[in-house]
Amino acid sequence: MKYILVSGGVISGIGKGIIASSIGTILKSCGLRVTAIKIDPYLNIDAGTFSPYEHGEVFVLDDGGEVDLDLGNYERFLNVKLHRDNNITTGKIYQQVINKERRGDYLGKTVQVVPHVTNAIMEWVEKVAKIPVDNTEASPEVCIIELGGTVGDIEGMPFVEAFRQFQFRVKQENFCNIHVSLVPQPTAGEQKSMPTQNSVRALRGLGLSPDLIVCRSKTPLEKEVREKISNICHVGPSQVIGVHDFSCIYHVPLLLQEQNLTQYFAKRLSLTIRPRKSMLYKWRTLAEKHDRVHTSCTIALVGKYTKLEDAYASVIKALRHSAIMANRKLELTIIEAAHLEEEMKTKKPVEFYEAWKKLCCAQGVLVPGGFGNRGTEGKIAAVHWARTHNKPFLGICLGMQMAVIEFARNELGLKGANSTENAPDTENPVVIDMPEHTNGNMGGTMRLGARKTIFKTECMLKKLYKNKESIEERHRHRYEVNPSLTHLFEEKGFRFVAQDTEGVRMEAIELDDHPFFVGIQSHPEFKSRPLEPSPPYLGFILASCGKLPQYMQRGCRLSPRHEHLLSTEEGDSDLEEELSKIVLEGKNHSDSNDSTSSESTKGSK
Ligand code: GLN
Repeated sequence: MKYILVSGGVISGIGKGIIASSIGTILKSCGLRVTAIKIDPYLNIDAGTFSPYEHGEVFVLDDGGEVDLDLGNYERFLNVKLHRDNNITTGKIYQQVINKERRGDYLGKTVQVVPHVTNAIMEWVEKVAKIPVDNTEASPEVCIIELGGTVGDIEGMPFVEAFRQFQFRVKQENFCNIHVSLVPQPTAGEQKSMPTQNSVRALRGLGLSPDLIVCRSKTPLEKEVREKISNICHVGPSQVIGVHDFSCIYHVPLLLQEQNLTQYFAKRLSLTIRPRKSMLYKWRTLAEKHDRVHTSCTIALVGKYTKLEDAYASVIKALRHSAIMANRKLELTIIEAAHLEEEMKTKKPVEFYEAWKKLCCAQGVLVPGGFGNRGTEGKIAAVHWARTHNKPFLGICLGMQMAVIEFARNELGLKGANSTENAPDTENPVVIDMPEHTNGNMGGTMRLGARKTIFKTECMLKKLYKNKESIEERHRHRYEVNPSLTHLFEEKGFRFVAQDTEGVRMEAIELDDHPFFVGIQSHPEFKSRPLEPSPPYLGFILASCGKLPQYMQRGCRLSPRHEHLLSTEEGDSDLEEELSKIVLEGKNHSDSNDSTSSESTKGSK
């Protein structure tokens, strides 16, 4: 096993996760099996109880693990399925050590950060690195470990110390360290190397020497700055890597590859590279395609955590994956749901009318998942507008529940219909608490992870899922449609098209006589890939840009010819043909080693 530790300097949020994922991508495209571990040095056991305002979205894994959103980047870039243990937190490590102490495993010794906590960290990493992540039984060959935060943080110290020891435990030829640092460009635009020098000094002081220094900057890294960092930080100039801002993150693996990272790793870690002709080819085509598409598709995302885009990271990525397949540039309008509410008309008229203008201008309306009462009436208003104006609508989890409430109130005449989450005493509880686990705690008590969903009838969603009888998407919810009232909906053409294996839980809705009105109780965005967009999202985007009927006619396949027919702007170039063959016909999906996500996040613009 080869370990690559990615640490960060100066500030967090400069795209360390994207760089770490891109390194994994390059190695994967050399034929190596790659896995990833994300370390978050906070005391929470997992991300499950986080407010999206603090850390962005909570990413959900197949096994129900509620983890940091960076694990989503690894899954999308490396096209792998990770496990909850691939996310290490200080909380998890301490919990393990304290449990051992209670059991008496330390035989009366004083339990300390060094060696007990550091040993627990090393053992965890060694154990998890070996777990297969790519649908085969084969153990990975390379493990990328991203250490969250910046070097020097008090919280990160036990981890830095653990890796200082780890380099000797697994031997130098099996371990290397990449330090991602910031090269700021203050007013005059001149690139400054001092913050990087300081952070490398801090790293060395703690016993880790960087093998590569990756410099994040606004514009391409200047030669003199590279030389200066090389001189002062005691690495060769070729070990200083520049990653400047880009239009989309598809470019990052390409940029790293251009700076000969493959050759570097092959030598440094004695890797057996199995080069392929098409190395990173799909990435290049995707990046070029992303940059060449100009016709936009405007989508309104009606949410609650609108101040931080990361709160809807996977939803936005899934929309982008689909938009690129539909030859459209995603224009996303994020609307604060509460601004759509009637009482805002007098309280904050400017916000009210602006929000409604944005909603009315959009080609499609998406209501994502969420928790709590605030903004729900605004979401219900948005659903009503989409339903009655024939605008494509996609409701995810809470979004589906809002669609049920809207229909109950306005079509079934169920007065005050609501979810018991919002109104525990509602006279018409159309959405109710249906717990699977009730141990009284908030953490880890939801219906979580991949669950089998069976299509009960022929429907649009089933077609979009290529006529599969059942699907497995990831869940994260407590409340569900009240099964005792579903017949009232069905009678009016509001169909519950998919259920759980026991036939009790309503998993998806569809409305007849509407261009696209779909709700789904799970979160399909977590499994969307750039080369394999999530089917409901793809259907939604195609419907929003008017391409869904043709797509349906063709049995939900975008062949090159079909693509050419549908495309209004870049249908016939060779590149398009090639991409269509690889991407849209579904060939080589299983070996799409170099799949990625398409958008600029955390500083990797
Ligand atoms: N709050 C809702 C529930 O718990 C929806 C959750 C979600 O959208 N993820 O069921």
